[in-house]
Amino acid sequence: MAELFSSRVIKSAKEGPQGLIIAGVHGDEYEPVLAVLELMNQLEGKLASGSVTLVPITNRNAYFSAARVGEDHLDLARTCPGNANGSITEQVAVEISEMIKKADFFIDMHTGGDLFDISPLSGYMLHPNSKVLETQRAMAEAFNLPIVWGTSPELEGRTLSVARDANVPAIYSEYRGAGFHSEGVNDLVEGCKNVLQYFGMLSDQKCQVKPKVKIEDDKPGSGHLQVMHPAPEEGIFLPSVDLGDLVTKGDKLGCLLRENGEKGAEIPAQQSGMVFLKRAVPMAKAGEALAGILPVNKKVYDEK
Ligand SMILES: [Zn+2]
Repeated sequence: MAELFSSRVIKSAKEGPQGLIIAGVHGDEYEPVLAVLELMNQLEGKLASGSVTLVPITNRNAYFSAARVGEDHLDLARTCPGNANGSITEQVAVEISEMIKKADFFIDMHTGGDLFDISPLSGYMLHPNSKVLETQRAMAEAFNLPIVWGTSPELEGRTLSVARDANVPAIYSEYRGAGFHSEGVNDLVEGCKNVLQYFGMLSDQKCQVKPKVKIEDDKPGSGHLQVMHPAPEEGIFLPSVDLGDLVTKGDKLGCLLRENGEKGAEIPAQQSGMVFLKRAVPMAKAGEALAGILPVNKKVYDEK
């Protein structure tokens, strides 16, 4: 088992870019783990140039806790670049950060985990270096999920923050959550292979380009999912929308039910657009995210 989940470097005899593809930064996100294992099978002996390092489970401690975070309760995606003398997650952060700095490009795959259901998307930071930004836009588009999302570059602690500081072109992906979505594994495998094709590392990848929307938002904190539509009070969140629904600012996204059975706050949409994130664990504490909306005026994803 340990060996199956170890990282692997797949090399071509021909010189070329050195890519890094990882999953399992959070321990409750499974489709990306299976996608990386499948890439190990599919890419062996197939690269036209360069090399790709595949890491199926980045935070093993969180994975074996079947939770977003491990025993030290630190979120690896808020801990980079880490501390070599720190706790287990801080040490893993150092290790993965060093790998990211050495890479020519980087893909970090996620899902909403236990807590959120998220429309499939690929994202990148609006990098100040225009060459890096252009490469990231092209990678995110090649990844071929319904939403391509560029957000403010100032968020810290992420793997993508490490890549940003090292000028390594990087994207991340989100794919559902709140249960297992088997179709996600193949979509993620194809997405990674499309990016390898973009870098000239695969030659026979046949990509059927899917319709998608591209959004760029440079407002500070724009990519921070955990703060969207925060619960105004503690309660059970009863959503009245599905992923992919189009809403108008002020529409009801759901309401909270108090522990004594009373109806609590209604949650109005803060902007018009498409619901792309929905809380999956009903119990919410005050301040926790309930839903997210992207400024999209056509339905590009349907959860059913
Ligand atoms: Zn994650």
